[in-house]
Amino acid sequence: PARAAEIRALIRDVPDYPHPPVVFRDITPLLADGPALTDVVDAFAALVDADGGVDVVAGMEARGFLLGAPLATRLGVGFVPLRKAGKLPPPVVREDYALEYGTASIELRSGTLPEGSRVLLVDDVLATGGTARAAASLVERCGGHVVALAFLMELAGLGGRDRLAGRTVETLLRVE
Ligand code: 5GP
Repeated sequence: PARAAEIRALIRDVPDYPHPPVVFRDITPLLADGPALTDVVDAFAALVDADGGVDVVAGMEARGFLLGAPLATRLGVGFVPLRKAGKLPPPVVREDYALEYGTASIELRSGTLPEGSRVLLVDDVLATGGTARAAASLVERCGGHVVALAFLMELAGLGGRDRLAGRTVETLLRVE
């Protein structure tokens, strides 16, 4: 993005949160900065144009909503939330996936995606890629075509790109 160094500086590294040895990347200072947030949304929009356009933006709860919804309005398309289990009223389609400890589930409202819609998936951070892989699979089960997955920040070395092998993965910032 424009001013990548400034944007990186607005993402706060929080050691041992939510527990050691995780270094949590807190994007709230970036969200609070108007010019930086605008640069990020503009950079996502430029990627989408390069990937040939989309019909809808889908965002992963919760920070994917915060970046995906402004991107959708910027592109003039709709936004579809992929929610944690139990948040959306029925009917929903559900995808379960493995976490480091235990499992998680995400849900999409049935009938939201017209068959063959070109979908851009958005989230803030790509870590192990488990969430994004489940999200892509859920969108496809619901009839969407995943054009690309776009992230503000990629935590390299956690295997996220490997877990998304064969898909178009775009990241604005990369940290080792
Ligand atoms: P993954 O499934 O790739 O391991 O984890 C990615 C998901 O967890 C994303 O939905 C992302 O928002 C969240 N996440 C994991 N680590 C971090 C982090 O350090 N900072 C933020 N903001 N989100 C994270």
